[in-house]
Amino acid sequence: MPSTLEKLRILGDAAKYDLCASTASPKKQIAGAIGSPTTMGICHSYLPDGRCISLLKVLLTNKCIHDCVYCINSTSNNSCFKRQTVSFDPDELANLTMTFFLRNHIEGLFLSSGIEGDANQQAERIHETIKLLRDKHKFGSYIHAKVLPGIGKDELKRISEVADRVSINVELPNSSRLNEVCSTKDYNSDILRPSKWLTDFYKKGLIPSGYTTQYVVGSTDETDEEVLKRVFDFYSNDWKFRRQYYSSYLPITAEIPQPSYFLREVRLYQIDWLHRVYDYNSQELSSILNEDGFIPLRDDPKLLLARQDDIFPLDINEASYNELMRVPGVGERSATRIIELQREKVDIRKPIQLKNVGVVIKRALPFLKVGNMVQTTMDDFM
Ligand code: SF4
Repeated sequence: MPSTLEKLRILGDAAKYDLCASTASPKKQIAGAIGSPTTMGICHSYLPDGRCISLLKVLLTNKCIHDCVYCINSTSNNSCFKRQTVSFDPDELANLTMTFFLRNHIEGLFLSSGIEGDANQQAERIHETIKLLRDKHKFGSYIHAKVLPGIGKDELKRISEVADRVSINVELPNSSRLNEVCSTKDYNSDILRPSKWLTDFYKKGLIPSGYTTQYVVGSTDETDEEVLKRVFDFYSNDWKFRRQYYSSYLPITAEIPQPSYFLREVRLYQIDWLHRVYDYNSQELSSILNEDGFIPLRDDPKLLLARQDDIFPLDINEASYNELMRVPGVGERSATRIIELQREKVDIRKPIQLKNVGVVIKRALPFLKVGNMVQTTMDDFM
């Protein structure tokens, strides 16, 4: 019978693949190093007030009835990487969470799970764990719960009532792609239906901090066009997802890849950011996809969009906030400060004035008119 510590080692390790509450840098993946995303442990999440908190990230069980090929807990994983299957009792995990919390190791819990039995039985164990924390231990801090595929509406509602945030892993962009990598889950009934219930709960105020999802990118031949179609739809008023995360597919038997492997994931995050923060609409963003339906990896998407945007070059003394946000090298903060300078009637005539408000000059100047000058590039003469 494995000890609680041994279970924590296995179930913490199995939870590290979920990105919905963590920030994992692909650059320095040194197994065993402090803060390395390749090892189990504590992840970080940002609260609505901007505070960063540390979370114990763990599965309730790594037993699962499903055969998703991208998952180490899958019934289809017969490799030597298959872990011993173990489960926490709800009481055991609640006690462990409190022990870490009272020692100031963590400020919250990120709880996910494989499915032992059926989705609703497992959801009940997740609910019981959270209720024990809330009622028995008077735990008032942050809890993020993962929604299991195939969960029923009542079970989902009960978890949404006690967790601070919930997320559901959509993993693939559509039904046919899911069928390529999993024979036991149904896209519509197991994933889209609970997602729609989350939207309903959110609109009724039950989960004010919203809900998120995650994709595994590259486990099939899905194009970025297929992924982005789902992404834009999920951000629309019909679904209202708060955030979407992208994780490069890594075969469970593979070595850790080089950082270049993650470039597709990075480009998807950039498109996501341009949509949510910079207000580019889905048609504009889709216009930079290549003929095969992929985001070009060579240049960053904002630069590609700027090259085809006829608002440039912009007169820096007259540009609106929304126009400035479209300039490569200009972000929210620098656009706001330029608008403040315009209001103060400051004549912006020199690049150094832009540099002083945080603009990345090298990227921005080809798209701006500063002191009646426009920087040209060799491209203009070719
Ligand atoms: S349902 Fe979740 S835990 Fe189970 S095999 Fe699929 S991804 Fe893994």
